[in-house]
Amino acid sequence: MHFVVEKSHTTALVLPKHSRIIATIYTMNIGFDLDRIFINHPPYISNKFIDLLYKESVRDELKYRIPSIPEQKLRLLTHYSKLRKPMKQNIQFIEDLAAKNHNKHFLISGRFAFLEKTTQKLIKQYNFDKIFNAMYFNFENKQPHVFKDEIIKKKHIDLYIDDDLDLLAYLAPRNPKTKFFWFNDKKDFSLCDNLLAITELKKMTNYL
Ligand SMILES: [Mg+2]
Repeated sequence: MHFVVEKSHTTALVLPKHSRIIATIYTMNIGFDLDRIFINHPPYISNKFIDLLYKESVRDELKYRIPSIPEQKLRLLTHYSKLRKPMKQNIQFIEDLAAKNHNKHFLISGRFAFLEKTTQKLIKQYNFDKIFNAMYFNFENKQPHVFKDEIIKKKHIDLYIDDDLDLLAYLAPRNPKTKFFWFNDKKDFSLCDNLLAITELKKMTNYL
């Protein structure tokens, strides 16, 4: 007799003695944002100010600004590596997770094309190309939430973590099978069925 054992959230099979077991391991696809998950914003700049820079308010619709060329140059200066510190605890977390489990880990970043060079450097510096199974960047300058929605659907992402709540509020209802995590520094709580606020990345491991 053949039994297929799948690792899933709910299945627990009691197998008869001496039965032949074929184990198939269920692999989860886990997506991570980059900025404010692994790389911090420059110090002394509030998240509100960052939102002002990055988002436009168009009635209730979410829209991100693609900066003009002079502004891109100015913004590039803020990407000088000394101003963007690694979030060491989170980098350690993904290094350990990628080393020990069989899931697939993806970096999914909304960064625009003008940041391509500086992003490549950063990937090498922190070995992200070795840690992640694949990396996706918005270098075609799509709206970041639309870009992330496409990747989450295409790669069948099971869990996704980001620090941008507006973006997550857009993604969660459009991807009901995906569990979303809002990384923030204040509180752990549930925002809706598939969107949870967490203050430490390790809290998402409860869902693996
Ligand atoms: Mg971010």
